[in-house]
Amino acid sequence: MTLHQNLIAGEWVGTDGVANVNPSNTNDVIGDYARASADDALAAIAAAKAAFPAWSRSGLLERHAILKKTADEILARKDELGRLLSREEGKTLAEGIGETVRAGQIFDFFAGEALRLAGEVIPSVRPNIGVEITREPVGVVGIITPWNFPIAIPAWKIAPALCYGNTVVFKPAELVPGCSWAIVDILHRAGLPKGVLNLVMGKGSVVGQAMLDSPDIQAITFTGSVGTGKRVAAASVEHNRKFQLEMGGKNPFVVLDDAELAVAVEAAVNSAFFSTGQRCTASSRLIVTEGIHDRFVAAMAERMNGLVVDDALKAGTHIGPVVDQGQLNQDTDYIAIGQQEGAKLAFGGELIARDTPGFYLQPALFTEATNQMRIAREEIFGPVAAVIRVKDYDEALAVANDTPFGLSSGIATTSLKHATHFKRNAEAGMVMVNLPTAGVDFHVPFGGRKGSSYGSREQGKYAAEFYTTVKTAYTLA
Ligand code: NAD
Repeated sequence: MTLHQNLIAGEWVGTDGVANVNPSNTNDVIGDYARASADDALAAIAAAKAAFPAWSRSGLLERHAILKKTADEILARKDELGRLLSREEGKTLAEGIGETVRAGQIFDFFAGEALRLAGEVIPSVRPNIGVEITREPVGVVGIITPWNFPIAIPAWKIAPALCYGNTVVFKPAELVPGCSWAIVDILHRAGLPKGVLNLVMGKGSVVGQAMLDSPDIQAITFTGSVGTGKRVAAASVEHNRKFQLEMGGKNPFVVLDDAELAVAVEAAVNSAFFSTGQRCTASSRLIVTEGIHDRFVAAMAERMNGLVVDDALKAGTHIGPVVDQGQLNQDTDYIAIGQQEGAKLAFGGELIARDTPGFYLQPALFTEATNQMRIAREEIFGPVAAVIRVKDYDEALAVANDTPFGLSSGIATTSLKHATHFKRNAEAGMVMVNLPTAGVDFHVPFGGRKGSSYGSREQGKYAAEFYTTVKTAYTLA
């Protein structure tokens, strides 16, 4: 089995590998991936530090060319890389290819941004003085990513980091090293100088922790769970470093009496169950007004009955497996908790067998849930959703906002008045009207508020806020 190594200071290193296993078929080993040690992480940080002075002053055309070449190769290999993604993470092939295309588009976007760096020239309030405001790279950026978007999240952190002249130490999630290895390999061959981008695959508690504890990392961008996010925050405050956190969600999807039923059901099924419900922007709280409630629940059950849960790589599969045994246990535990709390399991929720050994779970829909139940308050991160019945729009909005999280929020309605009011009053970083809570563009800001996020937004032009630091210079004329 080929060993995929870590990239440190421009060299592929590492001897011991860990098997990367396909959740649709646990007999299928995708490859062996090296596990970095804490010392490897320190070597990667030192390499990134040494590479920073030259890369931070590198020509914009050089940055543009490397990012563009990377975009072109990812897009040219979208079917192969999309297949790798689905094989290691378990989302369907269509979803895997779609995410890969998005990664290519992100590199393409930031290839363009490298040529659009700009500052401001402003007159001083004092006579004969000029003021210039410029953006400079931050330094060594640590990138720590979760398993659920194995290529898009690394892309939307690595591309802006390099575009704005930072050097990088990148630690992907243990469960999905394949796509991360592939994009680092592409960037390396595209001509990145030694040490500018370092890959350290391995355990969060070892490699990630070594990054958190290093005084030589000037900024950390993290996507993952709330618990780990808190550790990133505490360590970053300790080192007085910039940090950005994208964490959990408990995203609401409101369905009003005046909604078009088909639009509401399609958006709700997509929000709750596509990508096996393993999206930070997935909706697990379907908040439905009483006039449409019974029709909505019946239509959901009918639609769910038609969903094919099977091997992610098989044609015709709508929902792939859960990512691993640990996540599957968490999902089934919450299904049991929901029943104990008094919610009614209206559809699904059982483990299912397929031709190959994998982590297959029938998507679950609860009804008669309240917003105080644990299934409505805690992130499950699986294909499990709860319908909460409410009286009217005002109650729906109150319930939607009654959560510690604030990533994405959706509504199905034909009322301009309610749609407008919801966009203004939903306590979330992203609001969707008649659209699923998940599924976003790559050229506009992404992120949340309340317990979901901390720091400035990711993606689009807004990414510059995190990956640069502002300088204000005054000159006497
Ligand atoms: P996780 O927190 O377990 O792991 C995320 C990353 O942190 C991994 O690379 C892990 O190895 C690393 N890590 C673990 N311990 C560490 C430590 N002590 N120091 C440094 N790094 C450490 O999260 P996960 O299970 O991989 O991902 C699922 C979570 O991610 C969910 O909560 C989901 O909502 C969230 N998520 C959020 C967004 C968003 O944009 N808001 C997007 C995707 C996923």
